[in-house]
Amino acid sequence: MKIIKFGGSSIADLDSIQNVLSIIKKASQKEELAVVFSAFGGVTENLLTCAHLARQNDPDYQPLLRGMEKRHLQLVKQLIPVQKQSSVLTYVKVRFNELEDLYHGIFLIKEFSPRTSDYVVSFGERISAFILAEALKEIDLDTHFVDARDLIRTNDRFGNAKVIFPTTNQLIYDFYSKNKGLLVITGFVASTNKGETTTLGRSGSDYTAAIFAAALKADSLEIWTDVTGVMTADPKLVYSAITIPQLSYSEAMELSHFGAKVVFPATMQPAMKRKVPIYIKNTFHPEEEGTLICETSETTKLIKGISSLSHISLLNVQGSGLVEVVGVSSRVFGTLAHAQVNVVLISQASSEHSICIAIKSDDADMAREVLEKEFQYEILAGEMDKVQIMPNMAVIAVVGENMKHHPGASGRLFQALGRNNINVSAIAQGSSELNISAVIKQSDLQKGLNALHEAFFLS
Ligand code: ADP
Ligand code: MG
Repeated sequence: MKIIKFGGSSIADLDSIQNVLSIIKKASQKEELAVVFSAFGGVTENLLTCAHLARQNDPDYQPLLRGMEKRHLQLVKQLIPVQKQSSVLTYVKVRFNELEDLYHGIFLIKEFSPRTSDYVVSFGERISAFILAEALKEIDLDTHFVDARDLIRTNDRFGNAKVIFPTTNQLIYDFYSKNKGLLVITGFVASTNKGETTTLGRSGSDYTAAIFAAALKADSLEIWTDVTGVMTADPKLVYSAITIPQLSYSEAMELSHFGAKVVFPATMQPAMKRKVPIYIKNTFHPEEEGTLICETSETTKLIKGISSLSHISLLNVQGSGLVEVVGVSSRVFGTLAHAQVNVVLISQASSEHSICIAIKSDDADMAREVLEKEFQYEILAGEMDKVQIMPNMAVIAVVGENMKHHPGASGRLFQALGRNNINVSAIAQGSSELNISAVIKQSDLQKGLNALHEAFFLS
């Protein structure tokens, strides 16, 4: 059996949807399938925009909501013959009525919590997968619509919920044993034990597909998107990027962790555990091979790919007195973890006088506040400086298992950036020696990516 997933970019309009339906039809003739869908392209963003408008008491959410409803109803009319439309149209209309009530509530109380957000965005996948399950029936596939909230159990960390695997695997397995036919599954959404809707993190539909692949011990997992596989860099930033034929799970995880959004980082974990190979394919060029992600890494190059993260700030914790203070780093990281600040990269000078920490810019003010509170006595005593923040930074990471065996990657990285007058503010190597990452100015990012791409792939 094979699990296939289509992202929003693959189902953004009628033409691409019809293309996707024929890809599924063709694949279903070869082996047993289950399909995971994201929301139609752009719908998640629109659902969130409506909520933000409503919270600001701005009635403009109403035309936006009506536009979304119209778009969905239109797709139903285009995909399903007239005599069978009415139940699907009703399903869509009822969902939009619920949304209208929800937004009206947000408008009245001017409040939009993470819990409400998860419930609001869940409508995108619930409606798209339902419509597409019906559309697939029209090309003679015996489909079974699955609301993943019934099968994937998580904790209640809304927006980025953690999957409870033993329960989830059992629920999926039991469901599958009782319901034959082509499962058409909502990506992204899940629920708590209490039945509250949660989501698996932005772009979490890839993860949904991997969860099903592992639970059903699938032979393979295919993620269909709008580019041909994982590429040596984001093709939107580096025009000469090329497809990477093959990656190890760890390399794929590392690349996506550092910004290659073509596959969601958590996707690799369930697949790796059950050794399910992942293929990344292009919906618009199905004939192209794409990328295979599996246990081993094969390449002749020093690295596999380059990725980057924007909207980064660099925190600098330093002071001459810090050498004598025991456990400075554990206090720094404990404090940040307690405040739920996600640390992207750490770089410590060997003198221990300073620790550089890259974090998301959104977290910067809060991080400074909690650190200055934790170290208030050291700061007062002059043993430590006030925490400095460098805003508008980006992280570039070069990734590949080959770096373990062949030195020279960091030299090449520094040289290429230096030649282009790009200043490196901090550098770090992952403990697995799988990546080297450098913090540079956001304004140097595209130049830096292209310089590194040329140095590692084109020379
Ligand atoms: P989907 O809607 O299918 O989930 P996404 O937008 O989440 O698609 O991911 C596909 C996009 O990821 C591509 O259009 C590309 O711009 C971006 N991307 C970033 N880094 C890479 C990379 N290294 N290789 C391929 N695509 C990348
Ligand atoms: Mg995606």
